[in-house]
Amino acid sequence: MLKIDGITRRFGDVTALDDVSLEIGQGEFFALLGPSGCGKTTLLRIIAGFETPDGGTVTLDGEDLLGRQPNRRPISLMFQSYALFPHMTVAKNVAYGLEREKLPRQEIKKRVGEVLETVGLSAHGDRKPAQLSGGQRQRVALARSIVKRPRLLLLDEPLSALDKKVRADMQLELKRLQNEVGITFVVVTHDQEEAMSLADRIAVFEHGHVRQVDEPVALYERPRTPFVADFVGANNLFEGTTGAGALLTEDFGPLPGTPLDGLEEGAKALLGVRPEKIRLVEAGTVAGGLKGAVLDVSFYGGVSHISVDVPGHVRPVLVAVQGASGVQPGAEVDLSWEAPDAVIIPGAR
Ligand code: ATP
Repeated sequence: MLKIDGITRRFGDVTALDDVSLEIGQGEFFALLGPSGCGKTTLLRIIAGFETPDGGTVTLDGEDLLGRQPNRRPISLMFQSYALFPHMTVAKNVAYGLEREKLPRQEIKKRVGEVLETVGLSAHGDRKPAQLSGGQRQRVALARSIVKRPRLLLLDEPLSALDKKVRADMQLELKRLQNEVGITFVVVTHDQEEAMSLADRIAVFEHGHVRQVDEPVALYERPRTPFVADFVGANNLFEGTTGAGALLTEDFGPLPGTPLDGLEEGAKALLGVRPEKIRLVEAGTVAGGLKGAVLDVSFYGGVSHISVDVPGHVRPVLVAVQGASGVQPGAEVDLSWEAPDAVIIPGAR
């Protein structure tokens, strides 16, 4: 229903968006993910109407959006800083937009009541923003964004101002809320875990280009470019050239556990393998595994992370195991994985 077609935006000699096209479905929770400066906020601002593209079109249910003033678009934008009015009560903050549209008093009261209930703040309507916690303020901002019943809600780094614990709660809350109100949400974030936990689909941006659009699991398991693999976190990446049924690395020859997925021989490629897919055993137990020495072990309760120095490989290889690992720094180990658990990504870093 939201169709972004060939959007380009330049600032001097910086091309913030280069021919970006995306289609976002009705009721979808969609994330624009990428590092700082990749153009995601610029795209959000173009959709909202605060920025004009140099080329391309944006339509909502087939209607052109770019020709309309921001306040004539059926869209709400929730900013990073919630921009609540400090002197107004929660209820007044939420009612503000409806009052400006001169809706009947009774209608405003009813809608504000409903929306405060939806965000779990019915008991806080008379408070001022300063009397609320960070998470509650965020809910007020959300309530204010949805009370006008937009067709599309744009959220710019909505959780970045919250501390870690509140953030995890709010992630769940946002998802529940989106389900309940059925509005299409487009969220901008640089945090891959946040994007994965919130969104139905994610577009990964790099330097003004969309590199991959996929569901979280597909993105995690099948990154399609070296950048996406790096950013979304196929944490262990080995570089080489495909040949003779394996990835040939400069450092340690053919890599065991290579899926070739129909790649041509002689092509440059990366092999990505997730930390939890690597089997780590005492040295000398596995034939053909990679040999290394444990550098560091961190225990996180449910999982342990073990970093292993593999001679010839630039970065330590990261291994994740359930519970306590039972290995100590300095231990000599063998690492291996099954070919179907690894991914081959055409290209080089
Ligand atoms: P962040 O998460 O840091 O906001 P972003 O991915 O949202 O990053 P944008 O803010 O969209 O990135 O910026 C994309 C590029 O365009 C950057 O190189 C930025 O410096 C540039 N840019 C954005 N707005 C302007 C502007 N008004 N004038 C000049 N350059 C701009």
